Amino acid sequence: AKAAGRNVVRFFEPEMQARAEMRFMLESELRRAVEQEELRLFLQAQVDARGAIRGAEVLLRWHHPRRGLVPPASFIPIAEETGLIVELGDWVLRRGCALLTHPEIAANSLRISINVSPRQFHHAGFVGRVRDILTETGADPSRLTLEVTEGLVIDKVHQTAATMSELSALGIHFSIDDFGTGYSSLAYLKRLPINELKIDRSFIQDAPEDPSDAALVDTILAMAAHLRLSVVAEGVETQAHADFLAARAEMLYQGYLYGRPAPAEVFIASLAQHRD
Ligand code: C2E
Ligand code: CA
Ligand code: CA
Ligand code: CA
Repeated sequence: AKAAGRNVVRFFEPEMQARAEMRFMLESELRRAVEQEELRLFLQAQVDARGAIRGAEVLLRWHHPRRGLVPPASFIPIAEETGLIVELGDWVLRRGCALLTHPEIAANSLRISINVSPRQFHHAGFVGRVRDILTETGADPSRLTLEVTEGLVIDKVHQTAATMSELSALGIHFSIDDFGTGYSSLAYLKRLPINELKIDRSFIQDAPEDPSDAALVDTILAMAAHLRLSVVAEGVETQAHADFLAARAEMLYQGYLYGRPAPAEVFIASLAQHRD
């Protein structure tokens, strides 16, 4: 146990230092990044069982002029801690909603899914800002899905329910991201206006070979069916993953098997090609 403890500490320290450096960089540079267009929206397809694209998830990328590509996993949590996520998240929402009005996206009636962090969701005036963004961009709220995490649903249940209900009344859909990795209770899920569960890719990964992961996926699918929620499977990388899922229930598929996240303009150009 001592040896393990030492290993943990050695792993932990550089990680902490990297986070401290990242936080420092962020506080001075992220605002500039938004202004100077260093942030880009990538899109990843969500396809049906026939392989037809039904929607896309917006995934943020930061092309830092010196540090290169900074992955969202290393700057989103710190943007969340510092509160910068509010401004950053609004920027993503505005750009993501603008994509909904793109002729190629609209012509195919694609949905756009946008990740919303807990702090952004609970920040005062979130509903008003979403309304303003919808008005400014002219986006159809009924083609917008907001992806939230289980943690958000469990914390501040009453506030969450109120905010979700107001947005849901506009036609916006809610999806529970990384479903199964948190601890949502069925009771909470039932009381909130949720439309979709996203099965976390950690469950999909080994499900075709591992009976316990397969059982977890089955449990999630049963829950979704019981609550009449649609399902998106994340991290579908292989035909074996797709076959495993297709044998079980109707759902949408998202993962490298169908396409990696691509710059929004590249994704849209490929839609046009697809159709011709
Ligand atoms: P997420 O919402 O769970 O997004 C799915 C992640 O899985 C993405 O990582 C995506 O690139 C990756 N992925 C997609 N298909 C596959 C696959 O087949 N195999 C594997 N191994 N991975 C796959 P990414 O783009 O690095 O984003 C990481 C996380 O950062 C996201 O996880 C999300 O929590 C967060 N994030 C990204 N963009 C935003 C944003 O605009 N706002 C907020 N609040 N969070 C964001
Ligand atoms: Ca997501
Ligand atoms: Ca995930
Ligand atoms: Ca996530």
